[in-house]
Amino acid sequence: MDKKTRIAVVGAGIGGLTAAGFLQRGGFDVTLYEQARAFSRLGAGITLGANVTKPLRRLGIEDALVTAGIKPHSYVSRTWDSGEIVYQLVFDANTENRFGGPYLGIHRGDLHAVLAQGTAPETLAFDHRLIQLEETDSSVRLVFDNGRIAEADIVIGADGIHSKIREYLLGTEPLRFIGAAAYRSIFPTERLNGFAIPDCTKWWGPDRHILPYFMRSKRDEVYVIGVVPRRTWETDEASIQSSRDEFMALFDGFHPDLVRVLQVTDDVSVWPIFDRERNDRWSGGRIVLLGDACHPMRPFMGAGGAMAVEDAVILSRCLSECASAAEAFRSYENTRIPRVAETQRISIENTWMGGPTETDWYYCYDACTAPLAKP
Ligand SMILES: Cc1cc2nc3c(=O)[nH]c(=O)nc-3n(C[C@H](O)[C@H](O)[C@H](O)COP(=O)(O)OP(=O)(O)OC[C@H]3O[C@@H](n4cnc5c(N)ncnc54)[C@H](O)[C@@H]3O)c2cc1C
Repeated sequence: MDKKTRIAVVGAGIGGLTAAGFLQRGGFDVTLYEQARAFSRLGAGITLGANVTKPLRRLGIEDALVTAGIKPHSYVSRTWDSGEIVYQLVFDANTENRFGGPYLGIHRGDLHAVLAQGTAPETLAFDHRLIQLEETDSSVRLVFDNGRIAEADIVIGADGIHSKIREYLLGTEPLRFIGAAAYRSIFPTERLNGFAIPDCTKWWGPDRHILPYFMRSKRDEVYVIGVVPRRTWETDEASIQSSRDEFMALFDGFHPDLVRVLQVTDDVSVWPIFDRERNDRWSGGRIVLLGDACHPMRPFMGAGGAMAVEDAVILSRCLSECASAAEAFRSYENTRIPRVAETQRISIENTWMGGPTETDWYYCYDACTAPLAKP
């Protein structure tokens, strides 16, 4: 496509920052609009496989990611009560070579800060919450809550799970509460009083699971996320406060190694988990969706952010290689839908690495070199 095409990316999250970075490298005229006033160090961690670290290498930020995060020694799955190890993926040099990049644990705030290094700072407009889109034959008008109006030839909706752009494209459809909530806590490792824990463990219970992991190579902070069934979510708040006692009670009977961790948690919050049914319409006219705006998925495979990054890379390649936006969007959808659908299916099943698992198809994937499907 013509490199003068004006592209507006709405949402400077994981997918939006990646898309802007790749499109700018490709020579496109890109502006990134974000509702927040600044990036903040939000209280949660995230794990990223080689399918994420490999493409981000092309933005020149792989080293910064590794420095900000941690390359764990391994990912271990254990049975909730006996502690039996049912699966283990060791991230040694062999695994890293096979996957083509490292596996990382990282704080989300640190991830955002590093991703932002991959985009031109003067093109990132904070404090711009999109409230309206108006499409004409020749462009799209974007209206923001600060009174500003912008015009673009293409709009990329990277505005996350509560996407305004999805609503514009596909109509209003409430999110699906999946009947589970995530309890999250971050605490300084010194509270464990010398009790050593592995870098990343997933404890599998009959109807719930929990993962403590480190987010920095200093191993100075532990992040714990436990997912438990919950019948309803009745508030509009993004999260509610909980307590160590409640957290411990929900994992009563779990192995003593886990209980030792829960005993020193602090500042526990509860987050609802939403997703949507599979949707195969990702674009229309001059507008295209990526990441959670398009396909929010259950976090049980730790893949939502990874899918947003892969989407962003493939979309930027399609826009570079195709003659028109319509062709680029078809190629993008045809390339992405099968892989995202399979990831979404496994995330619903919640079986990933809970026993013998073939992981190469997922981690070896490189969105920068994967074949693009025909439009
Ligand atoms: C409990 C939990 C744990 C998870 N763990 C993992 C994990 O380990 N690994 C993994 O890969 N994924 C994980 N995920 C999923 C991952 O967090 C998301 O899939 C990922 O953040 C999606 O990226 P995105 O860019 O689509 O959206 P986001 O990262 O949510 O970014 C959306 C951006 O758009 C902005 N925005 C929203 N509306 C507007 C508007 N109207 N105007 C302007 N800006 C707007 C927002 O402020 C935000 O910055 C987890 C999810 C949950 C719930």
